[in-house]
Amino acid sequence: MKIPLLDLKAHHTPIEKELLAAIGEVLRSQAFILGPTVKNLEERIASYSHTAHAIGVSSGTDALLVSLMALDIGPGDEVITTAYSFFATAGVISRLGAKPVFVDIDPTSYNIDPDKIEPAITAKTKAIIAVHLYGQIADMSAIQAVADRHSLKVVEDAAQAIGAENQEGKRAGELGDLGCFSFFPSKNLGALGDGGMVVTNDAALAEKVRMLRVHGGKPKYYHSIVGGNFRLDAIQAAVVNVKLNYLDGWTAARQENAKRYTELFIKSGLVEKMGVKLPKPIYKDSGTAHFHIYNQYVIRVPNRDKLRAYLKENEIGHDVYYPIPFHLQECFQDLGYKKGDFPESERAANETIALPIYPELTAEMQEEVVSRIAQFLIA
Ligand SMILES: *Cc1c(COP(=O)(O)O)cnc(C)c1O
Repeated sequence: MKIPLLDLKAHHTPIEKELLAAIGEVLRSQAFILGPTVKNLEERIASYSHTAHAIGVSSGTDALLVSLMALDIGPGDEVITTAYSFFATAGVISRLGAKPVFVDIDPTSYNIDPDKIEPAITAKTKAIIAVHLYGQIADMSAIQAVADRHSLKVVEDAAQAIGAENQEGKRAGELGDLGCFSFFPSKNLGALGDGGMVVTNDAALAEKVRMLRVHGGKPKYYHSIVGGNFRLDAIQAAVVNVKLNYLDGWTAARQENAKRYTELFIKSGLVEKMGVKLPKPIYKDSGTAHFHIYNQYVIRVPNRDKLRAYLKENEIGHDVYYPIPFHLQECFQDLGYKKGDFPESERAANETIALPIYPELTAEMQEEVVSRIAQFLIA
């Protein structure tokens, strides 16, 4: 059985009529740039993430970029972040002329290890970007405590974590100074193209992001600051508005799938006999429905690269998020890091594999995924 890593056709087909109607409405209104559709989504995302303000932007990457711009990050500044994330997290720091400073991850959650942040702080450090990788909130209380001690700003890269909650029921995006979401199609809440959102409880930062997204003009054509075109398209906002109605159901389906994988992996003997490591939600005991929203289901396996080849041969979708930690990327070589600097990030890059977890995945497909892995690793 061929099993894709993600099946966007299965995801969109049941809501195709609704999506087309929403797109048609924008077409007939001719309000393509910002306007009521974008505003409506902003209000709903603010409410969904328990924040006072939300600003629709052109992508998750631009949400991060514009957040750092709103914090006046630039040449001479250092921004601390994880060594292990999607490229955008570190790329935006460099693009503003600031210096990314990397910190290793916690091997269980794959999120930044808060204990390693303080030693990385210098007089130039201005901010921390915390990433909620795979859909689980980083240890924000520990991160915020460090930030408070050194008067640093905290930006949440919540691209993979919309709706995720910590042990206190606080949601991704409401914990830092600014929170960033992505509507890239493979995220839990995806557009039919690019889009993103910045959320914040700080009215002044919200106002600044709003200005920056339209070249810094306020009023139009009067520029006290330099921004860019970072607007969210009304058509994409209309699509995301429809899909937001389904998000909690999709999250529940992802969580059900994760639970089923855990049962199947334990039953298969892979955990006990082969030392396969399953995702461990750190907020499990909180009782919140959203402790981990499983944008990705990532396991650690022995013999990872040979397993990948076997799965590919057998048409089982999978990927590695991410094969090269930031400090080993060619473009960051001038930062002076070397192999061995962040051993947990390097280990994660070598040992982990992401399996299909999308809401439409069936129990039968999951059984096939686990039995293929067992066939390779045990037989
Ligand atoms: C997807 C992603 C981004 C970037 O979002 P885009 O909308 O693709 O620009 C940033 N950070 C992380 C962790 C992501 O997963």
